[in-house]
Amino acid sequence: MAAPKPQVFSLPPLPYKSLDPVIDDATLALHHDKHHAAYVTGANKALEELAKARDAGDFALLKHWERELAFHGSGVVLHNLYWAGMWPGGRGKPEGALAEAIDAGFGSLARMQAQLASAAKAVEGSGWAVVAWEPATTRLAVLQVEKHQDLTVWGCVPILICDVWEHAYYLKYQNRRPDYVDAWMKIIDWQSAAARFAAAVK
Ligand code: MN
Repeated sequence: MAAPKPQVFSLPPLPYKSLDPVIDDATLALHHDKHHAAYVTGANKALEELAKARDAGDFALLKHWERELAFHGSGVVLHNLYWAGMWPGGRGKPEGALAEAIDAGFGSLARMQAQLASAAKAVEGSGWAVVAWEPATTRLAVLQVEKHQDLTVWGCVPILICDVWEHAYYLKYQNRRPDYVDAWMKIIDWQSAAARFAAAVK
């Protein structure tokens, strides 16, 4: 079977020409055309190298390219969200379900913005501040992001998960995690994976 072509990340154009005076035009251009573009290039390079590794059956550099994918892929996704979250002079205000979720999660918009601003200012080193929907609690949450690659590619919807914490295999396999992983491959529920996949791509 021919190896599938790797999917590629892309650099969408900015949805506006300027955010001046809040963000000067030179910064906007550099940030989008150089910094964001570099993440796209890096993520696509990682996909390309991973495809080559699969073709060659050589996964010696797998860890490196997976890290590259997580770092650059997350950079792409987070920058897309950053651009999408701004508009010259601002636009609209929270209404309807979003306003209700903000009130439920934080008490008021002002309280949410106070927490978001504090979170943004207090990020150690490089990073992001994020308002996110937390499905487990069905609440909005404010998150700080330091190493964005540690959370893999943001927005990914998990389809299938293998637990490789020692507690998942140590009694039977001791330190032989590869044996556990190989055995795990034979007990995958592809039916439930297909259902999650169908929901994710909808
Ligand atoms: Mn940036």
